[in-house]
Amino acid sequence: HRLENIDVTETTCGYCSVGCRFEVYGKDDEFLGVRPTDAEHAPANDGFSTCVKGKFGYDFVNSEDRLETPLIRENGQLREASWEEALERVVEELSAIIDEDGPDALSCFASSKCTNEEDYLMQKFARQVLGTKNIDNCARLCHSSTVAALKQTVGYGAMTNRIEDVANTDCYLITGSNTTGSHPVLATRIKQNVRDGADLIVFDPRKIDIAEHADQYTRVEPGYDVAWINGLTRYIVWNDLHDEAFIEEHTKHFDELQEKLEPFTPEEVERLCGVPPAELASAAETIAAADTCVFGWAMGMTQHSHGTQNVLALANLALVTGQLGKPNAGLSPFRGHNNVQGGGGDMGTLPNTLPGYQPVDDPDVLDAFEEVWDERPPAEVGLTVPESFTEAHEGNVRGMYVMGENPALSEPDIGHAEEALEKLDFLVVQDIFRTETAEYADVVLPAASFAEKDGTFTNTERRVQLVGKAVDTPGAARQDWRILQDLANRLGYDWSYDSPAEVMDEIADLTPIYGGISHGRLENEGGLQWPCRDADDPGTPYLYEDGFNFADDKARFVPADLGEPNELPDEEYPLTMTTGRVLYHFHTGTLSRRVEGIMSHVGESFVEIHPETAEQLEIADGDSVTVESRRGSTVVRAQVTDRPDRGVVFMPMHFAEGAVNELTQEAFDPISGIPEYKVSSVRVSRS
Ligand code: SF4
Repeated sequence: HRLENIDVTETTCGYCSVGCRFEVYGKDDEFLGVRPTDAEHAPANDGFSTCVKGKFGYDFVNSEDRLETPLIRENGQLREASWEEALERVVEELSAIIDEDGPDALSCFASSKCTNEEDYLMQKFARQVLGTKNIDNCARLCHSSTVAALKQTVGYGAMTNRIEDVANTDCYLITGSNTTGSHPVLATRIKQNVRDGADLIVFDPRKIDIAEHADQYTRVEPGYDVAWINGLTRYIVWNDLHDEAFIEEHTKHFDELQEKLEPFTPEEVERLCGVPPAELASAAETIAAADTCVFGWAMGMTQHSHGTQNVLALANLALVTGQLGKPNAGLSPFRGHNNVQGGGGDMGTLPNTLPGYQPVDDPDVLDAFEEVWDERPPAEVGLTVPESFTEAHEGNVRGMYVMGENPALSEPDIGHAEEALEKLDFLVVQDIFRTETAEYADVVLPAASFAEKDGTFTNTERRVQLVGKAVDTPGAARQDWRILQDLANRLGYDWSYDSPAEVMDEIADLTPIYGGISHGRLENEGGLQWPCRDADDPGTPYLYEDGFNFADDKARFVPADLGEPNELPDEEYPLTMTTGRVLYHFHTGTLSRRVEGIMSHVGESFVEIHPETAEQLEIADGDSVTVESRRGSTVVRAQVTDRPDRGVVFMPMHFAEGAVNELTQEAFDPISGIPEYKVSSVRVSRS
């Protein structure tokens, strides 16, 4: 009987940015399960099924914790309210702040989990309706340093190639990416290719799963990546293993690069970060000898106070070896959230760019937006997420609108972030759960999960794919775009979108790299990779085949400077803590911590400690331990393992209890503003 009236909807995974496609079985508001679609409809997973989260991680959709009605704060408590009451309160409070202190006293955070259409509307709501220049999102915390570095060197701040290229290359250098944990299906495809003969080189402070499959695993000290990457590049150039013809024809500033590489001799690299000269040489020779090579990285590279320098160094290495502009090669930043590429970047939810990475201070771009919006967007660069928190502390940002993000858990040094949230005069949180951030809100608006909406996500390879509504929203919860449209109209604007497809048409009008994308084409042709400039453009599988994204078509070598971590171990805090993810969970755990099957595998936070370090501290596997930094402390379970090195400990980022960001610090990359999550000094003792 239950099989009657079941809807089957093809959609895109709402967890990570691999963008696996599958069918959802749904009945009314109940999510019953998923089944992978055939390979033709699923270019990212290509018949490789889904990972454990993609298959079993959906209890959260049906969770009893789902927000089903708006909440407003009264006498210090959140109570249920009607949509009318909640939205009028939002209108009243935001308008009052604008009247008193101007629109820049407000800050908006878009969501890397929402659809492109919703994030486009969020930045339009901020810029057109509220008139604030302050719009950002959590991509600031994950790959903003990648974007900053790749824009300078090759032109687009995005993955240069396809997942298909990653799955078929001859050689990999993977660094700072726990690929199995964070991008499981991609890792499966890489491991398959390695079994078929591709070379895999992994440089990482921690012996992660993918390292177990490597031809060469080299352990590095956290925070000194420029040293070994520059060392690899120097070795290749000094031994005449570089691609001279490619450099001559397609790049600029090679002389400046060579000058800056001079000090990074193999001996100096060993002194700086412990990489043995023989391992540096063998990695360099393997990379240089490969016909095609993919350079893959994630947050182990980016989340440093010199994260942009790390990615510059990788881009230089790819350029000297000529591994760009051809299939099965390239620079592959593995993005995090399902839609961080699109909603977190392409849609202009950034303080310095409008949709399509168009600068906010370009008069021609502003003219185009003014013509469609009947309002000129602010022409100044706004505040980043961390800057908004600093300004909230100072009282200069008085109101925040947070859509589908959880900064009370994801910001570094959360004690400091919580103080900022407490200081706000008004906080709106739009989410599917009463998150840690919602506990500070004045109004909470119940939104829709990925399974309850139509729209598009853009995966890590720039592929725009449809998302389909498979089940109804629970209770009175609404789709995010409808909430924003209702608020915009209450604030005096005339938004009249009938569907996300109409929003995409406006995106295409104003965003050259999305110019040829429409829901109709996606329906008929499957995913399209940007740049896709008009209706006849088939999209761009890999970038830079016809030149780099600069007027002269040439890539730029930008030498990377070696920096030190902001905080070094000392007598008081003698261990280096690094952070990351585990296979079963996702980000701040808002979704995955609500899935029983996942919690039965990994149900609590932990700290990994090397056996020798554990012995010195008289800590045994399974002990309850206190981890302390200069910012705070937390109690977790010890896991004694040789995955981290002696003197280095690792904690996952997914848990509210045993929260790693009690310990991390507010130190930022000066170029991108990304926090240094990956290196903090701590001490560990038995509780
Ligand atoms: Fe979803 Fe990522 Fe798993 Fe694919 S690999 S099923 S996109 S979580």
